Amino acid sequence: MNSMTTTLDRLIFGIFPAMVGRYADEQLESHSGSIDYTSEVPSYIRNTPPYFIRECMVRLKSAVLDFSPEMISVIEDRKLLKVESSVSEGHHYYLDLTGELPKCTCPFWLTRELPCKHLFASIHFEFISWNDVPVQFR
Ligand SMILES: [Zn+2]
Repeated sequence: MNSMTTTLDRLIFGIFPAMVGRYADEQLESHSGSIDYTSEVPSYIRNTPPYFIRECMVRLKSAVLDFSPEMISVIEDRKLLKVESSVSEGHHYYLDLTGELPKCTCPFWLTRELPCKHLFASIHFEFISWNDVPVQFR
């Protein structure tokens, strides 16, 4: 992928996260042959654009390495979770799946509106599944 496409992806996903799903549908055919799906990419994000997959894989790796189930508390089952910060002791963030779009109160989500490590930690430790993420975002 050239840098122009990458920049465009960043603009699109940074500004219009709700369009990710629609964009993914349109891009699936043109990009699906260019990614190596050999091992780690979870099936639930395989049909999303390469940029989205790359971003998710970074956050997913952190979710697996830096979090434990004890760091996640259920406030409302599969809807609202409190997740401890992996870097600042005593800090926590709220992952909110109650609206049309998912939200997390962490700085990453507030600036990028892409799935954060708190979302992936919650999925990895099975507090939620990707299917609990509002469908408009998937
Ligand atoms: Zn977060």
